[in-house]
Order: sequence, then structure tokens, then C-alpha cells
Amino acid sequence: MTVTAGSTGPVRNAGFRPALAALGGPPAVPRALRSLPWPVIEQADRDAVLAELAGGRLVSNADGETAVSRLEERWAERVGVAHCVGTSNGTTALALALAALGIGPGDEVIVPALSFIASGLAPLHQLAVPVFADIGPVTFTVDPAAVAALVGPRTAAILPVHLHGQPADLDALGQIAERHGLAIVEDAAQAHGARYHGRPVGGIGTAGAFSLQVTKNLPTCGEGGLLTTDDDALARVARRARQFGEVIEPGADRDYISHSLGWNHKLSSIQASFTLAQLDRFDDYEAARQRNVADFLYRLSALPGLVIPTVAPGTTHAWHILRFRFDPTAAGLDGVTPGAFRAAAHRLLRAEGVPVSRYQLMALPEQKVFTDRVGFGAGVPWSITGEPAPAAPHPVTDAVIDDSLALQKRHLNPDAGPALQAYADGFEKLWENLDTVLAVAATGPAVTR
Ligand SMILES: *Cc1c(COP(=O)(O)O)cnc(C)c1O
Repeated sequence: MTVTAGSTGPVRNAGFRPALAALGGPPAVPRALRSLPWPVIEQADRDAVLAELAGGRLVSNADGETAVSRLEERWAERVGVAHCVGTSNGTTALALALAALGIGPGDEVIVPALSFIASGLAPLHQLAVPVFADIGPVTFTVDPAAVAALVGPRTAAILPVHLHGQPADLDALGQIAERHGLAIVEDAAQAHGARYHGRPVGGIGTAGAFSLQVTKNLPTCGEGGLLTTDDDALARVARRARQFGEVIEPGADRDYISHSLGWNHKLSSIQASFTLAQLDRFDDYEAARQRNVADFLYRLSALPGLVIPTVAPGTTHAWHILRFRFDPTAAGLDGVTPGAFRAAAHRLLRAEGVPVSRYQLMALPEQKVFTDRVGFGAGVPWSITGEPAPAAPHPVTDAVIDDSLALQKRHLNPDAGPALQAYADGFEKLWENLDTVLAVAATGPAVTR
């Protein structure tokens, strides 16, 4: 689907002013529409897990074909790469990709300033230093110009995040990577099914990392991850590092010889069996989500000052998270700051039953682990080179965190259409009552979560 900036939405029915729920009116979202489970667990998922339990091949290094190897094969095929390595979670998929690329002490990895903490922790786990680049104000993905400005002699990789399901600008990043001989590790934890110029994300950079965590677009019943790559050597090293540095040959007995530094980052076969069952319904869920989200955003596009998420040209958005920016000037709320508008909208929308929340309360580089350098002791890894890593301000990230709210998880459910329409009712109610929004923005206490 495409929702473009500035598209004209439906004409709203002016004149009728329903009372806001915060002022005692009925909430826009009825109770019956408030339960939308994710993941959707069906009998097929239960059967798959029970069959795996009965089959007795409960570890991923079990001899022969397992649920893990079946999932790896199917995901590699979907992403269009030669290799997929199942991992214990998305964070270890990122860390293993960096490890297999040989990224370590003295290296820098460029990471967007807006992401989930794991994107910044993964380089640290390899004793590399994350360097944070600002994002674009519309896509929320890393700004290639900001990345280019931070490349230095120690830069080893760029770690773009397909945040919220929107593919990052991989062409521009690829040119920077090529010019400087850098690897690209795609953080596709939020972007299963997203495409960039028709190609699935996770298969375009040097390596990709997906999360199967229970809230993601392709979930397991707990924790899991998938590392994807076309590079034979990278896959071989990642597979070894996943399993104590051992080489597990199909059909051969395990020899317990450790060839290199390894971890225990294996994916459990119970998790893999659940995800395999979910994968059978993935395309149907994805199609329903595209329809539901398009209908929802079409209605919201009529509200001046509500900046709806858009799809960058040439990409398919996986809609993992829907982020809305609040622009008080465009809404005609003179003298209200963007943050106050967002805080008032947060409070009033929650009262309507619209489950908006903030996604990230601070830019990644403001997290204590990075400001206080809580690493491995003695300032490691930041102290390794004896020189400071480059740093840049991130005004766009700060503005987006200040003036936006997110919808998460519920819209992933394929039956979310009616609930999303009720959410749109809630937004429209706010826009019918902008005088109240103005009053709350001027006086109301901020909602922080
Ligand atoms: C969830 C997530 C991760 C980490 O995945 P886990 O499976 O939770 O370890 C990494 N990056 C991003 C952007 C995420 O959303």
C-alpha cells in the first residue's frame, strides 16, 4: 500500500461534537474491541509445539532435520539468501553477525539514534563502540547524510534499523559502505516481510538480523532470532560461534572440539516449531494488516496537525509500529508546544480507549549505559583506542520522541480492522474538541508512558 504525505483524506462530518471520554462522554473504543491478542494462537500452533515435544529432537544441534533447520531453510528462501542461522533472540543474531564479520575492539559501528536499546548494545557486546547517527523526520530511519558525516578510520559497519517496519535507505547507505569498505548489518527485528525495491529486507546488506520475540511481526511463543546472509564464510563462522565454537556436521557425531570463541546462542526447537506454524499464516496476516492500516490511516489523513506515518518510495512497510507526530501549528493550536500537544493527546486518547504509548523515552545515546559508559569495566570498550569516538547531535530524534505517540501490537492482529476504525473515531473526537485539547495542553499533567 502507499499512503503519501499530503494525500487528501475523507471529508469529516462537521457540526456534531461528541463529549470527550475525559469529560464524562462515552469512550470511542467500546470494551468489546479492546482485546486483540498477539500472537494469535491457533490449534495449528499448539499441534506444532506438541508434535515437537513428542518428537524428541529438542535441541538445535540434534542430529538430522529439526524444526530449527526447517525454519532456517524456509526463512532463507523467503528472504532470498543462501543462509539463515537460528539464534536465541534478535540481539544475539545482531551480535553474532558482528562477531562473524570480525568486528571487535577498536572498531566503531554506526547505529541510528532512535531504536530499541539492543541495536546499540550489540556492538558493545563485541567490544566495539556504537556511534549514533540522527534519523529522518518522516521515515524515522537513519539519515544517510548523518551516517556519512560520522564515518571515520575506525568505522567497521553500519547497522541500519528498519524501524517500525519501514526499510532504511539501503541504496544510499550501500554507497557509503562501498566507498569506505564497510559492512552493513540490517536490524530487521521489526521488519519481517518489509521490502526495499521489491527485495525482502534482511537479504540486502552483508547480513540481517530478525527477532522472533513474542511481540514481533513473526513471533515465537517466547524468544528467538534469525540471522540471514548470502556470505558462506559469515554463515559458517556465525553457526560455529552460536555453538561454543564447535563445528556440527550433519550426520556426524558431535566432537566437542572448540575451534574459536563461541557462545551458546542456539534457538530452541520448541520456539522454532511455533514460528513455523505462524509462518504458514504470515502472508494472510500481513495482507489483512496492510488493508486495516490503510483504511485507518486514510481516515486520520484528514486531521490537520496529525502527521500520519508514510511509506518511503520504492518500499513496502511492514507496519510493526504506527507512529504519529503531533504538530500544534498545523492543528491551529497557537502557543502550544509539540510536546504539550502530544502529552494532552496522550491523556485524552487513552481516556477514549485508544492504546497509544510512547515508543522510546530518550535517544539511544542518552541511555545510561552509553552516557555513563557502563561497559566491561575500566571504560572498556570506549577506552580501548585511547581516543574519543565521533559524536553528533540528534535533533530530529529528540523532536520525534517529544512530539509523537505510537500504536503497538494490537494492529498486528488480522481482526484489528473494527478496533482501528474505533481508534480513528477517538482521534476524530479529539479534533472535534481542539479547544479542550488546548486547555489540557496548557494545564494538564504530562503522561510519560
Ligand atoms: C526487538 C528488537 C531487537 C532485539 O530483539 P530481541 O529478540 O528482543 O533480542 C533489536 N532491534 C530492534 C529494533 C528491536 O525492535
